[in-house]
Amino acid sequence: MNDNQLLRYSRHILLPQIGYEGQEKLVNSHALIVGAGGLGSPVALYLAAGGVGKLTICDFDNVDLTNLQRQIIHTTPSVGINKAVSAQQTLYEINPEVVVETVREKSTEAGFELLAAEADVVIDCSDNFATRYALNHVCVKLRKPLVSGAAIGFEGQVTVFDMRSDSSPCYHCLFPDMGAEEAMRCAENGVFAPLVGMIGTTQAAEAMKLLLGLGGSLQGRLLLLDVQNMEWRSIKLKRDPACKVCGA
Ligand SMILES: [Zn+2]
Repeated sequence: MNDNQLLRYSRHILLPQIGYEGQEKLVNSHALIVGAGGLGSPVALYLAAGGVGKLTICDFDNVDLTNLQRQIIHTTPSVGINKAVSAQQTLYEINPEVVVETVREKSTEAGFELLAAEADVVIDCSDNFATRYALNHVCVKLRKPLVSGAAIGFEGQVTVFDMRSDSSPCYHCLFPDMGAEEAMRCAENGVFAPLVGMIGTTQAAEAMKLLLGLGGSLQGRLLLLDVQNMEWRSIKLKRDPACKVCGA
């Protein structure tokens, strides 16, 4: 790390749980962020600000005026431009020390596999089941930790599938059936602005902890948030031995 980085990251380095060594780990880490919307915004902002050295951001969509109520990485002048590009611009203003790569096309599962193979952690900030299943499949295959989040209305959920562990469930163990695809998308549903920040920020914290090897992760636990009553609940998750994706 250079002198500027030592200053920029000093409040991390001062934490004994992180220190110089931990920050160096972050600087040398690579995170794949799929989706630069409501969840991807805080994830990318905190990972870049916190010094995760390389970010790959995938989003094929363009910034729309209806996004700006909650997708805080984008600005009014960015309306109409690709979300990954808009995110990259904001991140470079916050921290020019990190490298931000963009993927502006809709990725196939094979595409995600190539991207995930290069990354140390995969963060699912997408808004549809097809992408969630594809990322899960890839992370099980490559044994990459997957930080999964979702938010709709006033309710959200977040968990970690750490496929480096034999006991970790996968996304498919939790949601074996695809369905209600359209019903779950923000495009057709309302979403309370700070909710995506709370879930996304939790994903960012879990991703950084995984990169640092710090503390206990959400692996095996699904955290559920009800913002209307401001209640967090945690339910235990178990691997499904009959799972079609991670079962032997
Ligand atoms: Zn499974």
